[in-house]
Amino acid sequence: MINAAQEVRLKAVTKSYGKQKKALSAVSMMVEPGSFTVLLGPSGSGKTTLLRSIAGIERISDGEIWIGGQAVAKGTSKHLPPERRGLAMVFQDYALWPHMKVWENVAFPLKRQKVAKEPTRASAFEMLERVGLAQHTEKYPNELSGGEQQRVALARALVASPGLVLFDEPLSNLDADLRERMRIEIATLTRESGATSIYITHDQAEAFALSDQVGVLERGRLVQFGEPEEIYNSPATEFVARFTGIAGEVSAACTDQTGPAEIGVIVPHGFGPTIRARSNGKFTAGDPVRILLRPSAVQICDPFGDQAQLSAIVRDVAFRGRGYEVALSLQDGTQLNSVFSSHRMKRGESVGVRLDSEGCLTFSALGELAPPSPMIDLPESSERELQP
Ligand code: ADP
Ligand code: MG
Repeated sequence: MINAAQEVRLKAVTKSYGKQKKALSAVSMMVEPGSFTVLLGPSGSGKTTLLRSIAGIERISDGEIWIGGQAVAKGTSKHLPPERRGLAMVFQDYALWPHMKVWENVAFPLKRQKVAKEPTRASAFEMLERVGLAQHTEKYPNELSGGEQQRVALARALVASPGLVLFDEPLSNLDADLRERMRIEIATLTRESGATSIYITHDQAEAFALSDQVGVLERGRLVQFGEPEEIYNSPATEFVARFTGIAGEVSAACTDQTGPAEIGVIVPHGFGPTIRARSNGKFTAGDPVRILLRPSAVQICDPFGDQAQLSAIVRDVAFRGRGYEVALSLQDGTQLNSVFSSHRMKRGESVGVRLDSEGCLTFSALGELAPPSPMIDLPESSERELQP
């Protein structure tokens, strides 16, 4: 039986542990049937709590969760157990049953649905073939590698054609080379199954690669929800911008605002005319701003050419196969990392920098405070020594 892809709707879902600790604060979102949604956030932002609340493993404190037009949780008064929510889950640590053979693990969801023995066995074997494990059906989980065990878990999640599949950082325990292959397998097989997918991760590259929609979580709040391109090009907050990858930040002052999303800025030590930048806010001339630079916004050029807007020194060069990843120091000491160069540069070399307005994301310097950069983070003892 193929179950129809389920819509998932959250209305102001709140989850508190004890009196003070709010792991989720009024999270609302709408996940379209058959779509692949990734929830992205740093450790402790509430990702697992949110996924477990949708699964029914966790009881919510307030709000509503709807799956496929049915309320599965309403405040503390209604709570449908996980087995009645018509979903499957894939965990970071695989969570296979060690005493069951690989095929029995995969067969389990069908067995629980009381599907007859022969079709159950056939479906389990077919699913294992699809994840490339036809050779391993009679083995026990501990005889398999981590990547193979995660494929068994994926086969088990998809075998009963659930309408909703939930993934809790399924690639975290795998080696880097395997992670990319497994990511593609998850994306392909899950999309083929037609199920709605909700996938959580702390890895922005993984989130962008997998998703139709990304939700960004910060301290239990959903701060932005949209297509990956939208999140990348127009991050709602500095937190979202930083968490989705920047080369660095520069302070500047606004000179003019020409459109709702375009302003001019003057950067300290900049040469000549103003630099164009994007913004979500409203600014007037003289406002102090902070520009968060996407790596693609920073272009290395001839230091004496017309293109150069800033001057910099090459601090580090890393060969990355397709090109080089360069770390730069601006005149005032500002560090820019992850800058692309097609050819090798010398450490200590002077270069020009041109900023592409598309990747210059401007925020008010009076708003959110920047967290200390790890590069200038002082150990506690030396911080104390600096005190008078
Ligand atoms: P993430 O998966 O994004 O790392 P979690 O959902 O695991 O985040 O945790 C969110 C917050 O809730 C954290 O501050 C965590 O310490 C807290 N938390 C999670 N589970 C519990 C629990 N069972 N009891 C108390 N606090 C918890
Ligand atoms: Mg987690």
